[in-house]
Amino acid sequence: MPTVSYINTESIDYSNFSDFIKYLKKAFPLVHKNLKLELINNYSLLYRWEGSTASSDKKPALLLAHYDVVPADTPIAEHGASPSWDYPPFSGAVEEGYIWGRGALDNKTSLIGILEAAEQLISAGFSPKRTIYIASGYDEEIGGKNGALKTAQELKQRGILLDFVLDEGFTIIEPDIFTLLNGPIALIGIAEKGIMDIMITADGEEGHASMPPKNTAAGKLAKAIVAVEKNPFPARIIPTMKSFLKAIAPEVKGITGFILRHSGIFEFLIKKSFALSPTNNAMIRTTQAVTMLKGSEKENVLPKKASAVINIRILPGDTTESVLERIKRIINDKSVKVEVPEYFDAGNPVDESNLKSEGYKIIEESIHETFPGIFTAPSIVLATTDSRHYKDVSENIFRFVPIRINKSNLKTIHGTNERIKEEDFLKVVDFYKNLINRL
Ligand SMILES: [Zn+2]
Repeated sequence: MPTVSYINTESIDYSNFSDFIKYLKKAFPLVHKNLKLELINNYSLLYRWEGSTASSDKKPALLLAHYDVVPADTPIAEHGASPSWDYPPFSGAVEEGYIWGRGALDNKTSLIGILEAAEQLISAGFSPKRTIYIASGYDEEIGGKNGALKTAQELKQRGILLDFVLDEGFTIIEPDIFTLLNGPIALIGIAEKGIMDIMITADGEEGHASMPPKNTAAGKLAKAIVAVEKNPFPARIIPTMKSFLKAIAPEVKGITGFILRHSGIFEFLIKKSFALSPTNNAMIRTTQAVTMLKGSEKENVLPKKASAVINIRILPGDTTESVLERIKRIINDKSVKVEVPEYFDAGNPVDESNLKSEGYKIIEESIHETFPGIFTAPSIVLATTDSRHYKDVSENIFRFVPIRINKSNLKTIHGTNERIKEEDFLKVVDFYKNLINRL
C-alpha cells in the first residue's frame, strides 16, 4: 500500500494510510484482540501490551517503527508496475526468494516484524512481564512532526516514562561495507547526530551584467562559502566513538588493530585516517554541506540577492546555537546574512544512551540469540530517526533493525527494487520474538 510521505503534504493520500491500518487489523487478529490500539493524530499507531507484573516493578519498553515510505518513483508509480522496478513497488510480491516493495527495508519490515512476533507469541500463550508499547509514526520521512513527535508528547503528558526505546537507525553491516572486520557486524545506535539548515544571503545591486559593480552578491556569497569550507568543524572522538573503537579493536588485524587498541596514544592518527572517507569523517565532526545555491534567473541580470543553504549534521557536544555562532564568526561579513530558515526544524543531537542499561543488554542478547556468533558494537547514527522525538520520555534510546545490509541492497533503500530476502525477514521476526521474550 502506497503510504507515501511527500514534503509537499498536499500530495499525501491519507486514504492509503487508513487502508494500511485496516490491513493490520485483519492480518494480526490476536494482536488487535489482546493489545489496546490508539490512533494518535489520526494515523500514528500506539499499541499498549499490558505487563503481568505490577507496573511499579519495571518501566515499560517501546518498540518503534515508521510505516510511511518515500515515493517509489518520480513521478510516483501508479500502484502498478513501474518501468524501473522488477516487480511493482507496492505489490509486496514474493518472488525469487525475496519480498519486493517500497518499505521492505525502510521501515515497514520492522513494524510487520514486531506485530508478527507479537501475534506468534500470543498464540503460544505468552504475556509480557512489563508493559510494552509498540508505536509507529506515519511521517518519519518528512521529519516526524505530526507522527512520532505527537505520540511522544502524548506519553509525556500522561506521565509515562520508558525504560528504553528501540527504533531503526543501524543494522547488521556486511564486510563489503564495513571492511575492518571479516564478518558482519551488528551496530547498535546509541546516539544520533542533530540537524539544521543555515541560510546565507548576500545582497547586491540589481542591474545589467554589461556594467557590473566591483562587488556582486554572487562574489560575496562565494567568499562566505569558501570561508566555511576552509574551516571544517574540529575532529572530536566522542564517548560513543571511544566505545565503538574499544569494541572492534580486539577483532581488527594488523597495524590498524594495533592503533585502535592504543587509541589514546594514536588519537591524532585515528582522526587523520577517519577524515579520509566521508562516512568515517561524519562520525568525528559536525559536518557542513553547501546545497541549494540561488542567484540570478537570467544570464545577463545581476542578482539582487544570492543565497545558499548549508546543511549541517551536528555531533553531540555541539548545539544548534553553537553551530550558528561559529558559522557567523567564520563568515565574519556584516553584509552577509546568516540565519536559520523558517521552513526548517532544527534539532539538537541526541546524546549517548547508557551502554550498561538493561535495554542495551536485552538488545545485545537478542541479537546474539538470533544471529549466533555475530559481532556487536555501539555507534552513532548519522541521519535522523523518529526516536529523537522521544528523548523527553526515555533516557535510553537505541537504534537497530535486524536486517543485513550490504553494498548492493543499501542502494535499494530510497532507490529502486527495494526488497528483503525471505529468510532475512524470518530472522527479523525471530529477533523481535527473542527480544519481547526478555521484556
Ligand atoms: Zn526509515
